[in-house]
Amino acid sequence: MTRRDRSPEEELEALAFETRAIHVGQEPDPATGAVSVPIYQTSTFVVDEVDVDRGWTYSRTGNPTRAALERCIASLEGATHGFCYGSGVAAEDSVLRLLAPGDHLVVPHDLYGGTYRLLRRVWEPVGLSFTPVDLADPSAVNAAWRESTRMVWVESPTNPRLDIVDIRATAARAKERGAVTVVDNTLASPYLQQPLGLGADLVVHSTTKYLGGHSDVLGGFVGTSRDDVAERLGLLQAATGPVPGPVDAFLILRGVKTLAVRMERHCSNAAAVAAFLDGHPAVAAVHYPGLASHPGHEVAAKQMADFGGMVSFTLAGGEAAARRVCAATRLFALGGSLGGVESLIAYPPTMNSFPMQGTELAADPALVRLSVGIEAAADLIADLDRALAASGGSRRPDRGDSPRPPGVR
Ligand SMILES: *Cc1c(COP(=O)(O)O)cnc(C)c1O
Repeated sequence: MTRRDRSPEEELEALAFETRAIHVGQEPDPATGAVSVPIYQTSTFVVDEVDVDRGWTYSRTGNPTRAALERCIASLEGATHGFCYGSGVAAEDSVLRLLAPGDHLVVPHDLYGGTYRLLRRVWEPVGLSFTPVDLADPSAVNAAWRESTRMVWVESPTNPRLDIVDIRATAARAKERGAVTVVDNTLASPYLQQPLGLGADLVVHSTTKYLGGHSDVLGGFVGTSRDDVAERLGLLQAATGPVPGPVDAFLILRGVKTLAVRMERHCSNAAAVAAFLDGHPAVAAVHYPGLASHPGHEVAAKQMADFGGMVSFTLAGGEAAARRVCAATRLFALGGSLGGVESLIAYPPTMNSFPMQGTELAADPALVRLSVGIEAAADLIADLDRALAASGGSRRPDRGDSPRPPGVR
């Protein structure tokens, strides 16, 4: 196709990620010229005739603010269709409605606690079954596979341990056996990883996290380039109604505009934090895919543009030390979400992974999870340094001599 044959939408789709984040779905408002997509705070729309088959009718089935967000995130994920929801778990719930009683899923053994709870407490009682496995191990996936396996649910990096799964290989094997692959891309964000381009059928987000980016709104997204799946998701969205309100859609769209620049800083800060923690005497292991020692490092380097803003680690002093560190940080506030501009520290066993407490999937009691924000890296590292000393053991007994850790902005 020559350039002049392209529609304005196609021209826009050919532009870079950063440009699309700011412009796709966000043409100046046709009614007023407003540069920022207006908050269409209305439940219903006046229609021209009784036989309505096009245009805006009712905000459950379609709202212009939500539609702008859906188009924008779909573009960033390389999806032809996008759907937004009132939360990440609402998005996941709609994806699980694509299945039927008797169907089986293979899921990661390090799995977001809310996804586990949704499967175990809501969907298993009405007939779905699932097997948690180490998705990085093809023989484990084989062993878990059943005649009824219809879906492979992937997280990469996983929440909270930051395991890496080879999305291309996993999706190819699932496809061969007639199952769809869903990737929960929340921890990477589309700036770092686009699962549909790696062969996945669906991509899911908690837009509450990096896409929104400011810890002020809940939301979810599902994207696909399969028309059959999109048709069903469209029906489900209208028929079951788990939609975000226009204000929430507006806030997430505002966050998406700065995703690229925020992710750059999240990644560089997380790399600095991981380097600081790696080898610290109080730290037993650092889980960060950017470290060469991480078992998924090479796969992550291949399928991600950078290694993300999350860092998990275990304490040499076990559970007691992990709890003390969580109590001792100041800049890293103790809180159960991630992906915001401010840094957070979480204790997975009792916080984000609490639904797995008492099961074989329970998080390591010595594990701590960091969502590294976009503050100055040196301030974040100084905060951790102080907290680790308080938890018993520090690499820098002489750190009073150098208030700023070396080699950090
Ligand atoms: C937070 C999160 C979810 C759930 O999203 P909500 O917006 O909290 O409903 C799903 N998956 C992952 C990986 C998450 O971190």
